[in-house]
Amino acid sequence: DEGGSLAIVVLGASGDLAKKKTFPALFALFKQNYIPSESTKLFGYARSKLTDEDLQDRLRGYLTGGKTDEKTDPAQLANDFVKLITYTSGGYDEDAGFQKLDKLVEDWEKQTAHEGPHRRLFYMALPPSVYPLVAKMVRKHCMAKEGWTRVVIEKPFGKDLESAEKLSGELGELFTEDQLYRIDHYLGKEIVQNLLVMRFANRFLVPLWNAEHISNVQIVFKEPFGTEGRGGYFDEFGIIRDIIQNHLMQVLCLVAMEKPVSLDPEDVRDEKVKVLKSIGVPTLADCVLGQYEGYTDDDTVPDDSHTPTFATIVLRINNERWDGVPFILRAGKCLDQRKAEVRIQFKDTPGDIFKCKKQGRNELVLRLQPAEAIYLKMTVKQPGLEMQASQSELDLSYRDRYAEINIPEAYERLLLDVIRGDQQHFLRRDELKRAWEIFTPILHKIDEEKKKPTLYKQGGRGPPESDELIGAYGFQRTSGYVWVPPQLQ
Ligand code: NAP
Ligand code: NAP
Repeated sequence: DEGGSLAIVVLGASGDLAKKKTFPALFALFKQNYIPSESTKLFGYARSKLTDEDLQDRLRGYLTGGKTDEKTDPAQLANDFVKLITYTSGGYDEDAGFQKLDKLVEDWEKQTAHEGPHRRLFYMALPPSVYPLVAKMVRKHCMAKEGWTRVVIEKPFGKDLESAEKLSGELGELFTEDQLYRIDHYLGKEIVQNLLVMRFANRFLVPLWNAEHISNVQIVFKEPFGTEGRGGYFDEFGIIRDIIQNHLMQVLCLVAMEKPVSLDPEDVRDEKVKVLKSIGVPTLADCVLGQYEGYTDDDTVPDDSHTPTFATIVLRINNERWDGVPFILRAGKCLDQRKAEVRIQFKDTPGDIFKCKKQGRNELVLRLQPAEAIYLKMTVKQPGLEMQASQSELDLSYRDRYAEINIPEAYERLLLDVIRGDQQHFLRRDELKRAWEIFTPILHKIDEEKKKPTLYKQGGRGPPESDELIGAYGFQRTSGYVWVPPQLQ
């Protein structure tokens, strides 16, 4: 697998994702010498008529992330990087365009000093409507002649079970599963990747991680802004398709799955599919849907839109480990803060001689963003002369504990995985299918009923019905816990 040359082709290179995520992630890998200039070349393809320089200039401003040592000039590095990019334009259904692309890649491959295999990675930074078309063209004209060909695709993978399966079918006719990399960038987040290690390498967690001890689990995504000019796109999808069905479900799988037989990607993905298969299909009674006030003021959103910008959905996992534990997925736009976290709330401690119940339950919180942290809310003796219990925490704040370490961006990690051929952090077709089976019934119901979701104020916590539902499912808000950030101690 190693050795030879590597051509990385970004399809849709003129677009937003390419500029903000794909090329910056490749730049980060370049800086760390994971894609050495001697054996790697980057190609951009899209319809826009751009020169190499146009594209290079457009990208430069985004090539800043990550640390460099003091001796290296970051601007020089960015310059060296953009020189690796060659751009060519063409239509997405145009044979000639892809033949030209293939020729460019092949000519370069012949020139490189590296003996084959010549590997080719195609990254589709394109609207999903053209995936099948472009995949067909790549298959027809641009496959690697000896080494591997891998194709990376971005969400959305369909809008419901039927459309997702149609897309999977179309891609499946062109590429094998091991050539397809379906990105869910949540799987590239540090804390999400840590779930596997934390859960299965710590003896003290092993006996606690089940319905016997855990009361409820919340997986939460909140952002403090609305659709910001992308209302048209969002309105077609809504928060369940945009965040919950993919990102939060992937996190749920890693929180809830059984220990895989090994770290082999297929073993890990087998376990994720198993847990997905154990999840009951929710009904609208298990959901609270909301829409922030002013959402329809966006000119690209219809005035009568019933698309939810907020949703709380309670899922049940019908297996031995989790029977009776609600998994509460909650996501919303225009809320009071930006955060993504997993909050595992334990049951009350039996035989409470300290009257802790008043103060709250143990909670293990994994904060994915911002500022990665893992903390365990626990009751300890209040320091002092009196015998009094109070709420405190065991805290692992990455910023303090790993101050010297540059935590890689999700896309950077995932692209390296593609180059290395590691599919653990990518969705397999059966996994995607099952995730859609779970959500399609409520999504169709929402679309059919056309009922206006509860309106909520911008900058608040979303509809109050959500807190009521979560409370009804057993979540108890702790009181008396005050967080004192280390710098203030
Ligand atoms: P984009 O900027 O709208 O599109 C990328 C490129 O595709 C454009 O530069 C354009 O290039 C071409 N294109 C646009 N509309 C087209 C159409 N109707 N038919 C054919 N070609 C068209 O999209 P993006 O924001 O980069 O997103 C790319 C993919 O990543 C999408 O599937 C999106 O859902 C996903 N994604 C994006 C982000 C993000 O941050 N932007 C995050 C997560 C996932 P030419 O006109 O030059 O051909
Ligand atoms: P918290 O912010 O007190 O929230 C605890 C839970 O109660 C969340 O599920 C929250 O929902 C919910 N909640 C908040 N306000 C509510 C309301 N008015 N009505 C109903 N439910 C409400 O979180 P915490 O874990 O106890 O931590 C307290 C603070 O300390 C947080 O700011 C946390 O970031 C900080 N802290 C930081 C670290 C660290 O950085 N290492 C460690 C420990 C604690 P939402 O999810 O909607 O907010």
